[in-house]
Amino acid sequence: MFAEQFSPSEIITRDPTHGFPLFGPSRILGVSIATLECFYRDFASIVDKKTRKRIGEELGYEVGLGQATTLAGLHPFPSFKEHLRAGSMLRGFTGYCHEHITTLNITPEGKLIRFTGTWTKSFETVIYLKAAKRNHQGHAKKPVCVALCAILSGYASAVFGEKISVRETDCQAMGAANCHFEGRPAEDWKQGETPPGSKEENDRPLESNIIKLREILGLEKERPPFDSFFSVPTPVCQDPSFQSVLDRTDKVAPTDATVLILGKSGSGKEVVARRIHARSQRSRGPFLAINCAALPPDLLESELFGHMRGAFTGAEKNKKGLFVEAGEGTIFLDEIGDMPLSIQGKLLRALQEREVRPVGGLEDIPVKARIVAATNRDLARMAREGTFRQDLYYRLSVFPITLPSLVQRKKDILPLAHATLQKHAPGHPGLTPAAESALLSHPWPGNVRELENWIEHGLILAGKDLIDATHFPETHIEEGHEEGEPSPQATLDGDLPSLEALTHRYIKKVLDHTGGSKKETAQILGIGTATLWRHLKKTPPET
Ligand SMILES: [Zn+2]
Repeated sequence: MFAEQFSPSEIITRDPTHGFPLFGPSRILGVSIATLECFYRDFASIVDKKTRKRIGEELGYEVGLGQATTLAGLHPFPSFKEHLRAGSMLRGFTGYCHEHITTLNITPEGKLIRFTGTWTKSFETVIYLKAAKRNHQGHAKKPVCVALCAILSGYASAVFGEKISVRETDCQAMGAANCHFEGRPAEDWKQGETPPGSKEENDRPLESNIIKLREILGLEKERPPFDSFFSVPTPVCQDPSFQSVLDRTDKVAPTDATVLILGKSGSGKEVVARRIHARSQRSRGPFLAINCAALPPDLLESELFGHMRGAFTGAEKNKKGLFVEAGEGTIFLDEIGDMPLSIQGKLLRALQEREVRPVGGLEDIPVKARIVAATNRDLARMAREGTFRQDLYYRLSVFPITLPSLVQRKKDILPLAHATLQKHAPGHPGLTPAAESALLSHPWPGNVRELENWIEHGLILAGKDLIDATHFPETHIEEGHEEGEPSPQATLDGDLPSLEALTHRYIKKVLDHTGGSKKETAQILGIGTATLWRHLKKTPPET
């Protein structure tokens, strides 16, 4: 049987009883690239690079072995070459890539020396390039087709009956016209000669600059929500007060309604926002979060709505705002109560008219993103008192969700403590009765986040022993914020710097973060290095 004679209908058949698609004897699943893309993104946020690579390689290798043995079972092949080419065709019509074997060298005894070939539009480059575009990143520095390499390695190993290793020498994700690969017996790859087969730097899915900013501003202290999503499977929820919150969340998630999440700091507002996104049609699009309290107004405005080149000093090129970048995804506006009034008007317009105008722009751009907003302020009161626009408040509060503070969900305190403990130290023996009663009597002004800090603190002191009440932090906590972790409001409450002073402080913070690199600092700030120098030359204003 020659590879050309294959037709998809011969290879993918149907289970006569249920009608499911079969490859050989095995039922197969149709999974879209978009779904895979979401999976990759979430996967990367919870599993480290090395482990991801290993899992990808092992899984891919199994897939390849399976493809080769199943095909060999369906059809006898006259040669290695035909068996290899049949695999290429299979990967073509099952959507992995267009694969073309260009050279194949085999000894007269039938031992593989090497083969080379190309992939076009591999699913991995498609996923990479989409994410790179969304995040304004350039080409990959290393090949990204890790799974395909593994699949072809497994496939070729089955064909040639020895361990074959396939490496990618060039990749479309790096800007090449095609991906190029080379396969050889595994032992023939000399150390040091191996072209990189890993995605190392480029597979962390590319969070936007906003997230980078959040990190710089210390707003990422809260563990990434997906972490808690997976390691504490479905949020800990034994208390009816929180159960009703989750019920409401799940009801509103699939709709397009704007959601306003109200709750104290640390009560899990972002976790709820992400759950809304994850359970909506929009989960295929990005979830972009921004903290309205963390950025100076000018920067916030251009982050949200974008700006045109030359709109202000330092605006050297056009910038898409979050509303445009989010596409049909979800924008999470955290600390909406701290949004300056000037920007509130623009946000209202975005919600009402579904269009935005970039700073310095003359034309409106239609937008489709869904808004989920959150605050720990009493927004209704602010609207009454005129410190928050009333019309915007009504727009936002179409579907409010109020998160109970941790003391209000007493039944969840111990389960949350145990879940956190198991997450950080699987198999840990737990808490003494004194520790449990200390947890139950503490007022938890910092809510779930504070509880997690306590458990981590306890773990450090207790090690592998039971955690006792004496292992918890001493309690002298300011209302509303946990120790040692001032929120941006804490920094600004009672301390109202001028815009210039705030800019100066912020630049300093970014400089510290980049280890003093002016180039990187200017990049993060979105201004030119010349502008940065001008700022730095000015004497620091009184703060
Ligand atoms: Zn590639």
